[in-house]
Amino acid sequence: MVIIWIGIGIGILLAAILIKKIITTSPRTPLKFGMRCNKCGYKTNGLKCPRCENAPDHQRWK
Ligand SMILES: [Zn+2]
Repeated sequence: MVIIWIGIGIGILLAAILIKKIITTSPRTPLKFGMRCNKCGYKTNGLKCPRCENAPDHQRWK
């Protein structure tokens, strides 16, 4: 029954590699397009732009 253990080992290894890949790639290299606000270019790291969020167009003249 060594083959089963080899299969399990390969499966775990593949899962570990996949998880590691997801963990290492997602926070460090997100889509470069999503990292900046498409309105003002402020670095947002994929979040809502704090500049445009705090100062929308209709409040700019305040
Ligand atoms: Zn913005």
